[in-house]
Amino acid sequence: MTRPAQVVINLAALRYNYSRVCSLAPNSKIISVVKADAYGHGLIRVARELNQSYAFGVACIDEARELREAGIDKPIILLEGAYSPAEFSDIEKMNFEIVIHHHDQIKMIEQSSISVPIKTWIKIDTGMHRLGFFPTELEMVRNRLRDSSKIHPDVAFMTHLADASDPDSNKTINQLEIFNKVCAAVSGKRSIANSAGILAWPDTHVDIVRPGLMLYGISPIENKTASDHDLKPVMTLQSKLISIKTVRKGESVGYGADWYCPETMPVGIVAAGYGDGFPRHASSGTPILINGKLCQIIGNPSMDMITVDLRKLDTVNIGDTVELWGNGLPVEQIAKHAGTIPYELVSGVHKRLQVIVHDQD
Ligand SMILES: *Cc1c(COP(=O)(O)O)cnc(C)c1O
Repeated sequence: MTRPAQVVINLAALRYNYSRVCSLAPNSKIISVVKADAYGHGLIRVARELNQSYAFGVACIDEARELREAGIDKPIILLEGAYSPAEFSDIEKMNFEIVIHHHDQIKMIEQSSISVPIKTWIKIDTGMHRLGFFPTELEMVRNRLRDSSKIHPDVAFMTHLADASDPDSNKTINQLEIFNKVCAAVSGKRSIANSAGILAWPDTHVDIVRPGLMLYGISPIENKTASDHDLKPVMTLQSKLISIKTVRKGESVGYGADWYCPETMPVGIVAAGYGDGFPRHASSGTPILINGKLCQIIGNPSMDMITVDLRKLDTVNIGDTVELWGNGLPVEQIAKHAGTIPYELVSGVHKRLQVIVHDQD
């Protein structure tokens, strides 16, 4: 028997979430963000399913190449642009679009030997203070690009929101104001919104939206889960019970011996752990579903196994199904217990997991 830990991917849920983006931002085009192996859901699998997207957004040229080589013919945008001059031959050959966020990148384009002008997106730093030109630099950058025969004349503009997952954030209002002001002086398509912008900030939708997380049926908004936005989880992480034992009152369970049985009780051992991408910090008290019933993790997850309190179950057997997150148990909740965000959990599922793909409503 192979290890029972599996990732289950539901393509129907993925398409459903895409349709939710369409109805939330009906006047915007959609760049489906598929970086980091489509947040752990499988780059090619997801891109094929969402091939009606206006474009795909990736983090680097390796991801872009993989998409083209799999036959994806939609625009592909390198969200962080080129990292080195060596990338330009493939950018030209495979017709990728690039974000430009730094003067060094403009220099790289000018020094490259491309002959077909590249489509570019100017990234403006309106307050995230990660990538992008300051608003004061925009005019100079715009002129520099206009003068270059290597840049396609249709330049688009984007910015990234720092705090959109807080529906009451002044930061987003400020960023939007700054972006609208600098863009008033230029013509070209505009893009602001990530998933949180799409869900909580309609004014940020403008020409093109860039959903990532919500496509995968996960909420970026604090204390909300997929169902609050009528989204459906695409990934379920599941496994099976591989042992059940009765542990005596006062005995500890697991590494570090920091959970003690308050009474003599049944303990289940689940075949999944941080070696599969389940967070080590999701320890005692983290919810877990055994046969669809809510139980709790006890002790610390180890590399391949997790220990569970089975006292709530009347009947339970070795081989019973365990859900660690997904359809019946929001990954947002598990992330909270682990002191992290759902992005980290789904993008961190390990390659050793068996992947099951299904397609049902
Ligand atoms: C990752 C990313 C997105 C998608 O963000 P979500 O919060 O997952 O919707 C959008 N735009 C850029 C530039 C990104 O890097």
